[in-house]
Amino acid sequence: MVREQDLAAALRAELAAVEPARACCRRAERAGLGMAATGRARSAGVARLAVRLDADRAAVDTFDWHRAEEHCRVAWLRGCFLARGSLSLTPSGTHLEFVLPIVEAPALVERLLEMGLPGSWRVRRGQGVVTWKGRETVLGFLRRAGASASTLELESVAVTRALHGDLNRVLNAENANLRRTVLSAVRQVTAIEALERSGRLRGLPAHLRLVADVRRRAPESTLSELAALSGITRPRVQRALERLESLADEHPVGSGVG
Ligand SMILES: [Zn+2]
Repeated sequence: MVREQDLAAALRAELAAVEPARACCRRAERAGLGMAATGRARSAGVARLAVRLDADRAAVDTFDWHRAEEHCRVAWLRGCFLARGSLSLTPSGTHLEFVLPIVEAPALVERLLEMGLPGSWRVRRGQGVVTWKGRETVLGFLRRAGASASTLELESVAVTRALHGDLNRVLNAENANLRRTVLSAVRQVTAIEALERSGRLRGLPAHLRLVADVRRRAPESTLSELAALSGITRPRVQRALERLESLADEHPVGSGVG
């Protein structure tokens, strides 16, 4: 979906625009960017981010994960995502992955686990691929990393989609009912016209003639509507229509006037 691709791009832009307040976090994010910050940036946004962070003269190799505070770890992870992550939003699910050298993959998985964001990794075309599949994990990371507006949008897309699903189910159910209503109305009108052509309609009890008349005037109406129009209860309307159909069947058109 185009909308969801736009959303993934907006999310990445929002994260790239986050301005870490603390110097320690700026260093951590610069370290997370890694190679992306040394002339191999994947986008102009990431390149600009690297330049902004470099203004602190932060060194890539000064980040110590084990001693780092939570805020620095989040900053590091944001840099890591901007440099090597990709997000895929499809109707079937939310998927975020980091592509990095195979030797770095197990360490990343360990770090993510420490942050309560469990992932898994595998090898794909000679690269290590660390993946989160659960929607909650992905959204949890995005929120912590600072993509609040996009994350909210992402959640509203999910809600909208759920609503659409419900609506479609309701519409389909209504269509099925509508089809049934139309088909039985067609059968009933056909029966009533056959009875009239054969001259037997005028000899029928008054309530049958009334129901026949109302049905022909309102072929699209439901039984409840026919009941309201005729002043006869719904069950009696239903029985009258069934009676009209069976009478027409007893003496098909062309069998002569009784
Ligand atoms: Zn920090």
